[in-house]
Amino acid sequence: MQADSIVLGAGIVGVSVAVHLQMRGRATVLVDRRGAGEETSYGNAGLIQREGVMPHPFPQGIDKLLTYGLNNRTDMHYHLAALPRIAPFLARYWWNSRSDNYLRIVRDYAPLIAASISEHAPLIEKSGAGHLIEKKGWYQLYRDAAMRDDAFGKAEWMSREFGVRHEKLTGAEMVRREPGLGVPLEGALHWTDPWSVRDPGGLVVKYRELFESLGGRTVTGEALGLEQHGAAWRVGTSDGLVEAKDAVIALGPWAGDLTSLLGYRLPLGVKRGYHMHYVQPARNPLTNWILDASYGYLLTPMVRGIRLTSGAEFALRDAPSTPVQIDRDEPEARELFPGLGERLDAEPWRGARPATPDMMPIIGPAPRHKGLWFAFGHAHHGLTLGPATGRLIAEMITGEAPFVNPTAFSPRRFG
Ligand SMILES: Cc1cc2nc3c(=O)[nH]c(=O)nc-3n(C[C@H](O)[C@H](O)[C@H](O)COP(=O)(O)OP(=O)(O)OC[C@H]3O[C@@H](n4cnc5c(N)ncnc54)[C@H](O)[C@@H]3O)c2cc1C
Repeated sequence: MQADSIVLGAGIVGVSVAVHLQMRGRATVLVDRRGAGEETSYGNAGLIQREGVMPHPFPQGIDKLLTYGLNNRTDMHYHLAALPRIAPFLARYWWNSRSDNYLRIVRDYAPLIAASISEHAPLIEKSGAGHLIEKKGWYQLYRDAAMRDDAFGKAEWMSREFGVRHEKLTGAEMVRREPGLGVPLEGALHWTDPWSVRDPGGLVVKYRELFESLGGRTVTGEALGLEQHGAAWRVGTSDGLVEAKDAVIALGPWAGDLTSLLGYRLPLGVKRGYHMHYVQPARNPLTNWILDASYGYLLTPMVRGIRLTSGAEFALRDAPSTPVQIDRDEPEARELFPGLGERLDAEPWRGARPATPDMMPIIGPAPRHKGLWFAFGHAHHGLTLGPATGRLIAEMITGEAPFVNPTAFSPRRFG
């Protein structure tokens, strides 16, 4: 089968790239070994984080590092046995999180985040996915006055620098908005711009349907079989061999498996995460997305029930699940929101946020292969940035002027 472009990976990033290429008249084949939106893009917290201009930094300062080192926190967990393998990644991540480096990264990252909602909006409308979307912002809840003051100060700065809007609430005001809350709070931040998705995997399926309605083809195939053949790229699929001038690698946490076969040594890592669903209470159900800032988990009112999502786990991508964070979060969540019902899933779901040590995605042409493009490494913000990434890659492939400066996201920054 001849095509103009092959997109490998049908998560939120790959599907968004495919939609944007197809909208520009490029005959595109989307390849995945599974269905669309069944991996990382299925299990996330569903936030389109317009406020997310500050990517998650590595803890700084000896006192903080020591508390994380004890490995008994809820917001972060690590596998001791994995440390020798992941230490180089963690060291670079720590270095990039130092205040001077971090500030530069925040400024580079902000323009992409600024396009998160404006790029989702047309796809949501064209795909008919409006029923999955809430436009009420989301809340960070503070049980601790010092944490609240720190967060309120940061929010002021973010508003001034990046136009991110928020309102500050007292604990009592927050409880009036979510009457099911059960602990006294010192206050809350309401990020008013973000949207949220009640079924993130379902949104990816809607975008895939949009892609197909535009004439795109989705096929089953193994991405690791990608080969360069003259000036073209080829991959075997259930529909036979597909050949195209351009190929985009959008394999999320698996991207490194293919890029290393092609000879690239990118510093990729993963931040694993878990979720569990719970029954919504009949009285005072949870109505909006809330983060318990003291413990680093989110409670989110999804189609399936209340989804609790965990913080980050540093481990090898394919090591067996160790959902200790869900077990530690659950009692705190039951205290925060006493109506939280029974567990709905037999086991916690596990995913792996595809991470880079400078907290920014890799979006752009492969340095040493013509017609090969990278679109991965979105860490905590892949759902947020899928459509913005799709537009950026499609514009680069078709030779249009990119709508944001792509330099900071280029794979060349890693040599
Ligand atoms: C607990 C948790 C909460 C999160 N919350 C949020 C949030 O609220 N907001 C937000 O913006 N982000 C959030 N994220 C991050 C977000 O989910 C990811 O950044 C995003 O889903 C990555 O999308 P992707 O398309 O790059 O990867 P994926 O969704 O993983 O897609 C990769 C695709 O590649 C396919 N694939 C892999 N290997 C092969 C192969 N060899 N051959 C063929 N196909 C292959 C897979 O089947 C998969 O479909 C969260 C993540 C976690 C874990």
